[in-house]
Amino acid sequence: MSNLDPENWDEYRQQAHALLDACIDRLASAREHPWQPLPEAVRASYALDGVARGEGALAQELAESVLPHGTGNTHPRFWGWVHGTGLASGVMAEMVAATMNANLGGRAHGAVEIERAVIDWTRQVMGFPEGSSGVFVTGTSQATVIALASARVAVMPEVRARGQGAVPLTAYAGAGAHNAARKAMELLGMGHDALRLIPEGPQGMDLHALAERIEADRDAGRQPFAVVGTAGSVDLGRFDDLNALADLAQAQGLWLHIDGAFGAWTRLAGAPWRALSDGIGRADSLACDFHKWMFVPYDCGLVLIRDEATHRAAFAARPAYLAAQSAGLGGGEPWFCDYGVDLSRGNRALKAWSAIRAHGADGLGAAITRCCMLAKAMGDGVSARAPMALMAPVVSNLCVFTADAGLSEAEQSALNTRIAQALQLAGVAVFSTTSVNGVTCLRAAITNHRTTAADIEAALQAVADER
Ligand SMILES: *Cc1c(COP(=O)(O)O)cnc(C)c1O
Repeated sequence: MSNLDPENWDEYRQQAHALLDACIDRLASAREHPWQPLPEAVRASYALDGVARGEGALAQELAESVLPHGTGNTHPRFWGWVHGTGLASGVMAEMVAATMNANLGGRAHGAVEIERAVIDWTRQVMGFPEGSSGVFVTGTSQATVIALASARVAVMPEVRARGQGAVPLTAYAGAGAHNAARKAMELLGMGHDALRLIPEGPQGMDLHALAERIEADRDAGRQPFAVVGTAGSVDLGRFDDLNALADLAQAQGLWLHIDGAFGAWTRLAGAPWRALSDGIGRADSLACDFHKWMFVPYDCGLVLIRDEATHRAAFAARPAYLAAQSAGLGGGEPWFCDYGVDLSRGNRALKAWSAIRAHGADGLGAAITRCCMLAKAMGDGVSARAPMALMAPVVSNLCVFTADAGLSEAEQSALNTRIAQALQLAGVAVFSTTSVNGVTCLRAAITNHRTTAADIEAALQAVADER
């Protein structure tokens, strides 16, 4: 054997075809396969001994021991955390991406043009101007780091060379903002205390409180530089008033970043949900995920930056071994490595491109609208089943409730925690939990194109039965 390719391609073809059939069977029967705990014997079988077994044995092991033991988010009654469901088009795209094995850090080839095409489509959906830049990343967490690093370079052009030093920059976000913003502040060396958390109501951040906090920081000699708005909060699915936030950021001369991890995609939804993200195109930067509410397989996130020059100023670095070429494979400017952390980059864009090609904006938008309708139906179902009760209004695709509002806070918390675990272990439904006003609640984030109205009813009945 002279290299690592299969010795017999015909045998490999048969093995790979059988594996593909197993994958398709698994997706086609997603309803029969909820999450279940990983059996200890299977876990033990994953240990590597470094001995070669060949592709044939591998294909069998992948089908039998690996494929069945995922997170269960392919199941129609999976609503925990914010998990996308996956798409059959994603299986095709990932197969082609692995075969091409393209490096999307840059250079002149088709895969980078696919990424450009998806970024340009998303730019238009979100209402960002032509000339905006973007780059695919793991998810909104990394997108937030890139966005806030760009925001900082905008006010501190020398920060890459000299560091931030003792300059006390401050940023602002609603109290319900995702932890990703705090982490980004930590990673950028600003510390999460510099992210001021502003109280919020059903309409998101209290803009009066925000303006006061900015003024207080200025009075104290600090330098406000960014506001992080939320389009779809992780706990309750709330949206900041993005137009009002854009007005405020503009008046204050602050960079407006929007965390639209899932909620940005209400841009594709029908009324009344589309209006939730009105104004999103006025942001300086936007983080969104394809792996949540666009259903694309993990991982697949995107950051969009309005001012390409600032984006480039924050990340571009091209030593001699990466120098731009006037022709050949070393051409193809701009290179994506100049827009983010990674030099070597996989082909995340292809699965997003494939989803859009296969289903179109209308098909994806209809699925997103359906998720909102189902969340509303779940909310109605909760309200109709006293003593179950909603813990927050259903704004978009999230429904947060308690199984028995008649109990004390501590009793409700224990009950809801127990129910979530019991339904997960029984393979009935996956709710996660969160805390609202000191009560641990059941929480469903519906980013699932397989969920039906009957699934909602069955899951609520199961909650009632567990109580
Ligand atoms: C999931 C989520 C994030 C983090 O995104 P990742 O893709 O998991 O890195 C940030 N903000 C919100 C609102 C989210 O739902």
